[in-house]
Amino acid sequence: MTTEQLYAIYQQHPVITTDTRKITPGCIFFALKGEKFDANTFAQQALEAGAAYAVIDNPQYHSSDKCLLVDDVLTALQDLARHHRRQLTIPVVGLTGTNGKTTTKELINAVLSQHFNTVATQGNLNNHIGVPLTILGITSEHEMAVIEMGANHIKEIELLCSISQPTHGLITNVGKAHLEGFGSVEGVKIAKGELYDFLASHNGVAFINSDNPILMSMQGARKFTTPPVFYGNQLDDLVSGKITENAPLVSLSWTNNTTGEDYTVKTQLTGAYNLDNILAAISLGLYFKMPASEINAGVEAYQPKNNRSQVVQTATNTLICDYYNANPSSMAVAIENIGKITANRKALILGDMFEMGAEAAAEHKGIIEKALSTPVDERIFIGHEFSAQKAIAEGKTASFFETAEDAIAALKASPIKNSTILIKGSRGMALERLVELF
Ligand code: ATP
Ligand code: MG
Repeated sequence: MTTEQLYAIYQQHPVITTDTRKITPGCIFFALKGEKFDANTFAQQALEAGAAYAVIDNPQYHSSDKCLLVDDVLTALQDLARHHRRQLTIPVVGLTGTNGKTTTKELINAVLSQHFNTVATQGNLNNHIGVPLTILGITSEHEMAVIEMGANHIKEIELLCSISQPTHGLITNVGKAHLEGFGSVEGVKIAKGELYDFLASHNGVAFINSDNPILMSMQGARKFTTPPVFYGNQLDDLVSGKITENAPLVSLSWTNNTTGEDYTVKTQLTGAYNLDNILAAISLGLYFKMPASEINAGVEAYQPKNNRSQVVQTATNTLICDYYNANPSSMAVAIENIGKITANRKALILGDMFEMGAEAAAEHKGIIEKALSTPVDERIFIGHEFSAQKAIAEGKTASFFETAEDAIAALKASPIKNSTILIKGSRGMALERLVELF
């Protein structure tokens, strides 16, 4: 089955799923192989559940003409998405970066949606499967698409760009994450830079945070046929801005440097680091000629519900729920943020950072040091990596627990009250287990 043949079928059956639990009548089921499963074995089940077709790559499961046999199901999905993308003429905003991709994607979507029929990556579906699925969800009704692209290896962003073909794009930042796969921050730079490479060679528009020296040097090293758009607080920026309040929700003022007009916005996000994410969204709105009133309405409306920079008020405490993920860069800015916010009493609850490879010991030590030099009333570290470094905190206000269970028992015995509490750790630490204690 060729891509063109598959595309003709997709046009009649534009709903695609790779999950048998999400079959809807008339959809196309793509039988992908996972680590544990080969979905070829579910093809029949998908058809019985109502799928119009099942795309398979093992002839053994070819049970009827509703089974579409391809060489490789994943490649067929990606090729189909690339083909669909080529038929679309709408702007596609691609974004990647070490931290803040989903938040920035949501903010850009919140802003652009005020004016355009916008489609964006759902949740965090930012990989070699999620990106094609997002592209295949774009219909002729949509006027804009915002695509999050994640990577933990070199060449992944190149592949995702070849599928989504962004016309506009931004890298949120380059920092320390997935060092196991990238080798070093230099590796991260090369990998994320693949987005700039694509934009530079396809007449695309890069949106660049002028306050970020790494991004500035990466853009300086490339020749963009269309000049990049800058946002930040340097010269020639389309948009500049600064935080005016952080208690712990962030308010900011921003300037449209083309007209000189100033605006203020009260957001529902915490974290001074979100200034960059918000300015990115504002600059896209301005670039696409949206009025400031709509841009501000979009920023103000965005309410994180995803445990990223989310503020939750309980009966006795204010929680900064940032336990969706963690790496040294995002840990550092989250700790700096709680250091700066206005609150009577502050506490840190930090869980191990995963996927740090050979850097694990040094990076956990660095975060403990940062936490010790940040003015807070209580510091709790959870996990094996943090616990292995506890000697450096001897005599200081800091407790260490090997497991979340140990920490929960201790916190039950002496609860934290009347505090603003940052809770952050890698996904695998599942620190949401602690929330009910506060
Ligand atoms: P993932 O790699 O899991 O897709 P992501 O890049 O999409 O992550 P988000 O989910 O938006 O990032 O945010 C995760 C965390 O990163 C936030 O909760 C916050 O701690 C931190 N973060 C967000 N924006 C920034 C930023 N601009 N700079 C540094 N850290 C940030
Ligand atoms: Mg994400």
